Amino acid sequence: MFLNTRTKSKQLIQYEALARRSTLTREQGRRLKFLQSGYQGEAAYDRLFDEAGHGNLLIYRDLWLKIENATLQIDALVITDDLLTVNEIKNYSGIYSCDNEGWYINGRQISENPLAQVSRTAGKLMRMQYLQSVPFKVEKKAVFVNPNLHLTINSKDNALNIVERSLLRPYFKDLKSMNAGPQASELSNLIEAFIIEDPMELPEHKPEHIKSGNCCYQCGSFKLEHGKFIAVCKQCGYHETNERIVLRSIIDFTALFPNSRLNKNNIHHFVGKIQHERSITKLLNKYCIQLGNGKSTYYRLSSLDFETILKDGGYKSRYEKEIVMG
Ligand SMILES: [Zn+2]
Repeated sequence: MFLNTRTKSKQLIQYEALARRSTLTREQGRRLKFLQSGYQGEAAYDRLFDEAGHGNLLIYRDLWLKIENATLQIDALVITDDLLTVNEIKNYSGIYSCDNEGWYINGRQISENPLAQVSRTAGKLMRMQYLQSVPFKVEKKAVFVNPNLHLTINSKDNALNIVERSLLRPYFKDLKSMNAGPQASELSNLIEAFIIEDPMELPEHKPEHIKSGNCCYQCGSFKLEHGKFIAVCKQCGYHETNERIVLRSIIDFTALFPNSRLNKNNIHHFVGKIQHERSITKLLNKYCIQLGNGKSTYYRLSSLDFETILKDGGYKSRYEKEIVMG
C-alpha cells in the first residue's frame, strides 16, 4: 500500500512554470530536463510496483525526513516487519559504469553516485533506532528503471546493492512476499514522527522576466478567449474552465515568486484583470489557506500540485462532464 501520493517536486514545478513564462537559459533547460527525467523514472517505478502488487507492504514515496541534524530525501521506503528498504530511483539511459571511486558515462565521471547516496541515507535511517530504541534493519538498493541502460558494475559487492530494470519485477515480488503486519505499522508510526515538508527553498524570480497572464493547459499559448465560465484557446481550440485556468496561474505565481505575498491584488495583476476581483477572492478562499484579516488578508497554498489542490478544494465542474459526455 502506498502511504502517500507522489507529486512533482517544488523545484520541478518552478522550472516548468519558468519554461511556460520565460525563455530558459541553456543551463535552466538542462536542469528542467534532468528533473523531468527523474520524475518520469519515479513514475515508472510506481507503475511497475503497482503491476507487481504491494501485498501488505507499507510504502512511502518521495519522503523528507529530519533525523537529528540531518535532512534526507528518500525516493521510496518500503516497510516490512523489522526491515526498512530504501530505494534510490534513477532513470539513467546510455552506457554507464561504476567502480569504488565513482560513476561514469561513456568513461567520463559524473557528479552523482547512486550507491554512495543510498548508503548515506541508509546510515542516517539506522540512527533512528538509537533515538527510539526500536530495533530494525535497513536494506538499500539503487534501482534503475530505464530499459535503455547498459551498466557495467565492477564488483560483486556493488552489484548486491543495484537492481536493474530487467530484475525489477522479481525484486518487487520478493519484497511483496515479506511479512508486513503490526510490527510494520509500528515502524511506520515511528517514521511519521520524523517526516518534514520538502525544505527546498525556491529562488524568487524577477517579475520583468516573467510573462503574466493565463495560458492554455494543452499547448501553452497565452491567446485565450475568456467567456463567463470557460476560455477557449485560439491556438489549439482547447476548452477549460476559468476556475482551473486562474488556479494554474495562482500556482505559477506562487512557484515563481515564493517570497511575494499571495493576495487578491497580486493575482488580479498577474492574471491580467480578466476576472472580477470578487471571483479571484472566491478562488483564493476556496483553494488556499487564509492568513491575516481584512485589507491585509493574504494566502498560502498547501501544495503546488494542481491535482492535489483541485481535490482538496473540492473542485466540481459540470462543464468537464458535459465535454466528456459530448
Ligand atoms: Zn492551446
